[in-house]
Amino acid sequence: MPEEIYDCIIIGGGPAGYAAAVYAGRANMRTLVLAGYHSGGQLMTTTDVEDYPGFPNGIKGPELMKLFRAQAEKFVEKIIDVDVKKVDFSEVPFKMIAEDKEYRARTVIIATGSSPRLLGLASEKKYFAKGVSTCAVCDGFFFKDKDVAVIGGGDTAMREAIYLAKLCKSVTVIHRRDQLRAQAVLQDRAKTDSKIKFAWNSVVDEFLGDGEKLTGIRIRNVETEETSEIKVAGAFVAIGHVPNTDFLKGSLELDKKGYVVLEDKTRTSVPGVFGAGDVQDFVYMQAITAAADGCRAALDAHRFLEEK
Ligand code: NAP
Repeated sequence: MPEEIYDCIIIGGGPAGYAAAVYAGRANMRTLVLAGYHSGGQLMTTTDVEDYPGFPNGIKGPELMKLFRAQAEKFVEKIIDVDVKKVDFSEVPFKMIAEDKEYRARTVIIATGSSPRLLGLASEKKYFAKGVSTCAVCDGFFFKDKDVAVIGGGDTAMREAIYLAKLCKSVTVIHRRDQLRAQAVLQDRAKTDSKIKFAWNSVVDEFLGDGEKLTGIRIRNVETEETSEIKVAGAFVAIGHVPNTDFLKGSLELDKKGYVVLEDKTRTSVPGVFGAGDVQDFVYMQAITAAADGCRAALDAHRFLEEK
């Protein structure tokens, strides 16, 4: 039996989803959040968040998301931690399937965020969870007092490197250019950390191991084409993100990288379906911009229902 018809279903339980929930609920829309099995989004695997306004001393990512959720719970009917596997946006009410159950709503806000991108090497797959990881907070402890590498030159890579340097013997940052993309404050912290070294203009040629676990990385200098091997027990891939939109393919317009295309403010190609946060944003990708998007999407959804 399908559940009742909600005014708004929010898919996703990160900053965008929970902020949308607060605004949708407070606008008196009957709101359900399908928050995902791993609700909380990417801040759940972050340590200190120093740039979310309102927390002058910083706050841990998971703690911030606990507060987001507690606030959302005050205003919505339900938050369910399930992954939406299928949607049918061909008619109203829109239908969403999660764990063989059908959920229906007059408006939908998609806020499923994005996930870490991988390099795509066969050896990366072979040694994933056997030394290769995308989350220093989750897996760093396994490499206590060992040599590790971080791949990437953005904010995520610097955060991972700085975190790992506190635990590990050494951290080699492997970056394909000779300049970092990360914000200045993170660059400074990484560059002045005596445990962090940089392999500039370098890419991963192959992850090396004994079949059971990672033992090193063959890196290639893209300027000289020379290869060399570094011995590491852990390698943290931090090269950006891919949007979590597989379940939406064919239901609304996605761009060629899979991001939800917004046609007018937060409106997607399907009237009544809205997008918020990293699922449609590959530029800013901040908790605060995602939360603001969630607010905008909820206000737009409310307006849409009123216009009806
Ligand atoms: P990003 O800014 O897109 O950086 C990705 C890095 O990986 C870049 O240095 C890029 O190199 C490199 N890269 C991409 N594809 C690669 C490949 N195939 N092989 C080797 N290297 C590759 O991604 P991010 O660091 O995950 O950050 C995403 C967003 O989240 C950003 O807006 C960032 O500001 C935000 N963020 C913020 C914080 C914070 O503390 N405020 C923390 C984490 C993330 P190039 O530089 O050569 O392109």
